[in-house]
Amino acid sequence: MDQERPAREACGVFGVWDDPEAVAKTYYGIFALQHRGQESAGIASTDGRVIQRHRGMGTVGAIFADEQVLARLAGRGAIGHVRYSTMGASLLQNAQPLVANTQWGTFAVAHNGNFTNGPSLRAGFEAAGAIFQTTTDSEVFLHLLARAGGSDDPAERIAAACREVRGAYSLLVMTPGMLVGARDPQGFRPLWLGQTADGKYAFSSETPSFDLTRIRPLYEVPAGTLVVVDAAGVRQVRFAEPRPAHCVFEHVYFSRPDGVIFGDAVQEVRKALGRQLAREHPAPSADIVIAIPDSGNAAAMGYSLESGIPLEQGFIRNHYVGRTFIQPSAASRALSADLKLNVVRSAVEGRRVLVVDDSVVRGTTARRRCHYLREAGAREVHLRVSCPPIKSPCFYGVDFQSKGELMAAVHTIDEMARIMEVDSLGYLSVEGMLSVLSSPASDYCTACWTGDYPVPIEEGMSKKSCGEGPSVV
Ligand code: SF4
Repeated sequence: MDQERPAREACGVFGVWDDPEAVAKTYYGIFALQHRGQESAGIASTDGRVIQRHRGMGTVGAIFADEQVLARLAGRGAIGHVRYSTMGASLLQNAQPLVANTQWGTFAVAHNGNFTNGPSLRAGFEAAGAIFQTTTDSEVFLHLLARAGGSDDPAERIAAACREVRGAYSLLVMTPGMLVGARDPQGFRPLWLGQTADGKYAFSSETPSFDLTRIRPLYEVPAGTLVVVDAAGVRQVRFAEPRPAHCVFEHVYFSRPDGVIFGDAVQEVRKALGRQLAREHPAPSADIVIAIPDSGNAAAMGYSLESGIPLEQGFIRNHYVGRTFIQPSAASRALSADLKLNVVRSAVEGRRVLVVDDSVVRGTTARRRCHYLREAGAREVHLRVSCPPIKSPCFYGVDFQSKGELMAAVHTIDEMARIMEVDSLGYLSVEGMLSVLSSPASDYCTACWTGDYPVPIEEGMSKKSCGEGPSVV
């Protein structure tokens, strides 16, 4: 991934219900989701009477380094969250889970995604005198839960709130008496239901966190549906007709390769993307294929398998540096991009190198890396990208910013090849990308590549997302 702007909301959620080890499992669960956000994290737990919470800025390991913190949270139900924020919202008060006391009881919310109508909902509440303590649109959801009228059944209130919001959300909502997982009608972001060996239920953004906590994945929460877990067991409540638009970028970059999302194993999808890339953009003169690790690894493997060009390790990753995509400031991201990868001179010197990256956003990091390959003695550098050119912003949880900052939105392929100083450049086609996925093409969101947005974008959100000020998170 070439990206020097932060993801707006590359968050992860995890929760367990009615389990004596709920807090410990949630801790390990969000630990395994750390790649989705490193700016803040938190856990809320309940003993069946009250909800307690601990949250902080930084990584899960640092926030919960003191075992006493986890001990104080003890309870049989817990939800956790890891977060990356939008610009200007790198604040402790925005760290999740959010907790609110209402006339209907206490709710804790952990949210992955972006409401596209968050700004107008918020403006409406503020006009009516509501006070907000965060700049997140997750708090809008709490206001929807808390408002007057409606049912006193928490599940019905959650379903009613879900019918009001638009856009991308995989939500966990916990009360002292139940845990609910909710997924928007498009199913933009992943959300799984799982079960412990003792028959207790859990939710997670991705299955690798279930592996770590010895939880068996059951099924992905259906789009437009709540999965309610309480003393009566588990049940589904459909609140909207599903209109699937799963985020393909989850497969391309976000999700862990050891997981399964939207019905497909991520590692296999990435390998298939690499194979398809080799068919669409062969480079018969290349001596070796190398990956930009880690998210380019599987695609490079696929390219090598399809083309017969041997795979080499051309970059070594320093795993003690944070993930570039989700570093909060431009300066620290640029520095960490250089700290993170180093060229293996012995692998590339004197060779014609084909380098596979999963995506190119602004082009600056890719350019620098290709330059380093030449500095190390590569005779030729051919760049292949295992997704199509990113030309449009995302309003559903990934911050690609304005069109002007997206390299492919303002340059042709030839211009980009010149700017990045590569001998050849090839991007996977949209059709080729969708061809490797198991669901029909119409079930996926491809808006950042095609500009075809499956959920309309509010005018206010569009402006804010184009750099006119802090946006919703
Ligand atoms: S616009 Fe791109 S990144 Fe955003 S949800 Fe759609 S596919 Fe994913």
